[in-house]
Amino acid sequence: MGHGFRLMALIKGVLWGLRRKIVSRLGKHRVLIRSSDYPTLFAARIDALKREGRYRIFAELTRPAGHFPAVLWAGPNGLTEVITWCSNDYLGMGHHAGVRAAMIDAIEAGATGAGGTRNIGGTNALHVELERLLAALHDKPAALTFTSGYSANLASLSVLGSLLPDTVFLSDGDNHNSMIEGIRRANCDRVIFEHNSAADLEAKLAAISPDKPKIVVFESVYSMSGNISPIGEFARIAKKYGAMTYLDEVHAVGMYGARGGGVSQELGVADQIDVIQGTLGKAFGMQGGYITGDASVIDCIRSFGASFIFSTSLAPVLAAGALASVAHLMNSTEERRLQRQRVAEVKARLLDIGLPVMQGASHIVPVFVGDPVHAKALTDRLQDHHGIYIQPINYPTVARGTERLRITPGPCHTPAMVDALVDALDTEWSALSLARTRQAIAA
Ligand code: PLP
Repeated sequence: MGHGFRLMALIKGVLWGLRRKIVSRLGKHRVLIRSSDYPTLFAARIDALKREGRYRIFAELTRPAGHFPAVLWAGPNGLTEVITWCSNDYLGMGHHAGVRAAMIDAIEAGATGAGGTRNIGGTNALHVELERLLAALHDKPAALTFTSGYSANLASLSVLGSLLPDTVFLSDGDNHNSMIEGIRRANCDRVIFEHNSAADLEAKLAAISPDKPKIVVFESVYSMSGNISPIGEFARIAKKYGAMTYLDEVHAVGMYGARGGGVSQELGVADQIDVIQGTLGKAFGMQGGYITGDASVIDCIRSFGASFIFSTSLAPVLAAGALASVAHLMNSTEERRLQRQRVAEVKARLLDIGLPVMQGASHIVPVFVGDPVHAKALTDRLQDHHGIYIQPINYPTVARGTERLRITPGPCHTPAMVDALVDALDTEWSALSLARTRQAIAA
């Protein structure tokens, strides 16, 4: 958009605001809106985002097969190779040769789009096979796939909360938007407990009438802080008060547990959790979401979940890729071992140079910046001067004043890439005169 146009949009936005103020001062509540006003009104909202430094610019990236985490960035000087350090393809499975071959074979055999909702022609043999494998991954009787982890949470929580009268949700204060929206749609009471606090969860459960159904909703790995929840403790407390548990393992499946079944599997408490939800879009390198649990619970969500029923099912080619990826990670531990090694190296080296790494036991390495403009300047400089791609994390993804970089080291990052990342961050942290610290800071 040219400067002239933006200036005009700004002036029009200000004039429209003035008109609205004058009219309401005159006691008239109705403002005449012309159809030509809308572009100006929306442009003013975008300008406000830009002034706050929160305007999101998507980097146009291509991922040449077999080269991840090297990707091609379409920048002002044409295509440049950059190393991505913020992908949620945590284990590089999106470019795994076996996964790609499975998808190509599936396409040759005819598995492209689903051709409908699950009910009307959209159930494919690959969906059924994938659901069997996902149930086995989590040692649960049944599973159901969705087109995203987001819609899995939306459908599941709205159904669970709406089928039993007087249900109360107990939701961790840092839960993801998809869970918040799912709970909202259930249209029942909701109590927020302090993030990761067993004491607060227990106090809030104790205050609810024992005859009401209760569902405790939380995540295993919180993706913006790297915090891991006390799953066993939450499950124990939930049982004590007759509550059901719903655990989002989106940022853990594939990476934790002997077979990649998540943190609940790693801690040996998966059998204490009623519903485990996951995604195929992160460590499994594909797209789609799922839930696993008791057969009657899964059947209810299949039968009543609007965002499941009324949407074209997962493309069978994606189900084929997911099958290959999940099966691979159920048997191979090499990706998980290497990821942990890289994560430990990056955390230690950044702390060594005094960067404010946020404490957390997971594979996510958040580096606190605390200001959206600095976070953006830092990531721009990393990209422009060092060929390193990291997206800044701003409000509303995190609270204002807690803006950060979120680094996700993985098995495909080489030791030389780690050296280059640490050197680049060191240089640009100094160039922007950002504060250093001697120890990890609380997440
Ligand atoms: N749950 C959590 C905790 C997430 O962070 C996300 C997405 O990042 C989702 C659910 C949605 O999963 P998906 O990306 O598969 O839609």
